[in-house]
Amino acid sequence: MSSPQSTIPVAKPVLGEEEAEAVRRVILSGWVTQGPEVAAFESEFSSFVGAPHACAISNCTTALHLALKAVGVGSGDEVITVSHSFIATANAVRYCDGMPVFVDIEPDGYNIDPGLIEMAITPRTKAILCVHQLGMPCDLRAIVEIGKRHSIPVIEDAACATGSEILWEGRWEKIGKPHGDIACFSFHPRKVVTTGDGGMLTTVNPDYDRKFRLWRQHGMSVTDAVRHGSKQVIFEDYDELGYNYRMTDLQAAVGRVQLQRLPELIAQRRRFAAQFCDGLSTIAGLSIPVEPRWARSNWQSFCVRLSDDIDQRAVMQALLDQGISTRRGVMNIHLEGAYSGQNSHRAATSLTRSVSAQQQTIILPLYAQMTEADIERVIEALRQAVAGAGRVVRQPEQDVVPA
Ligand SMILES: *Cc1c(COP(=O)(O)O)cnc(C)c1O
Repeated sequence: MSSPQSTIPVAKPVLGEEEAEAVRRVILSGWVTQGPEVAAFESEFSSFVGAPHACAISNCTTALHLALKAVGVGSGDEVITVSHSFIATANAVRYCDGMPVFVDIEPDGYNIDPGLIEMAITPRTKAILCVHQLGMPCDLRAIVEIGKRHSIPVIEDAACATGSEILWEGRWEKIGKPHGDIACFSFHPRKVVTTGDGGMLTTVNPDYDRKFRLWRQHGMSVTDAVRHGSKQVIFEDYDELGYNYRMTDLQAAVGRVQLQRLPELIAQRRRFAAQFCDGLSTIAGLSIPVEPRWARSNWQSFCVRLSDDIDQRAVMQALLDQGISTRRGVMNIHLEGAYSGQNSHRAATSLTRSVSAQQQTIILPLYAQMTEADIERVIEALRQAVAGAGRVVRQPEQDVVPA
């Protein structure tokens, strides 16, 4: 049990001797990238999520780039997504010379509102890029249905959602099966499992998978493993523009150990989330996250919402004064300088729910090494902070004019 003086960070990866041993094994093997560990990690990850194909990649941002490129997003094409996400979601669209088209989030959560997607569709719409924000599955059933009806591919930004589940035709299935056309995962240390940096692309489509493998390795027609294993001299070709988006075997070896840990990590996060929900539900002025009947979050982040008149910064400061680190909720991409330019994005709907979500939400500490006493300490500190925080008077929300 931690002393009341100890500080509680907002997140902490679980990395131990097993990961260190795995990296040591790879170093001493002499094969450190695009080798057997990457292949094994891909095969284990694909079994875990139930996908026919999984391609390891350098991070989730590069995964999103290749996913959008695979479905044909090019110059001037539109991709419907949310502003209420990490900036990489929309940046990947711009890497393809495409235009992110933002729609608002649901009234009671932080995911895309499927009811707003159809009004954003134009003849230039090339993809729907939905996000499983904070690990909470978005309403894939509705989104996939819209994609089918309009023949628009659905790409899932599943950066936060490794191990999250969705009820699909009566069965619980892992995010990444995938239910859309392609799902993209992140293994950054802020996510539930980590390889330092790293990502994964899953798909049912063998053609997409073949493209991912080509593009991640400079567009090289023959892989290192094939050339190394060949009894005959092979010369490779480079018929298409490729990238260096490789995952190393050092990372993949760590990922394989992390994948072993994942079920227990998620079980622990779910226990802590339940404890938070119990303890926080009685605090006036605070609401707890809603898990739809058809979704099981991995609780990558536990995000609470303050009523409109409570000063978010004051609550966060009061917690920090108690040694408890928190973060503001999810950002809004359209409000950043990188998105101030004329052709940087288009807002297809009002984004007022996105804007108020950012102003009212706080991400609480949640990681596997916490104790029940730590969770209790956060609950009590938050109770006091909310009671003591000043009240703010807000200007009426400025509606976002579609650009
Ligand atoms: C973390 C995150 C990303 C980026 O992942 P990287 O692996 O760091 O590139 C993209 N989208 C969302 C929603 C994220 O949370």
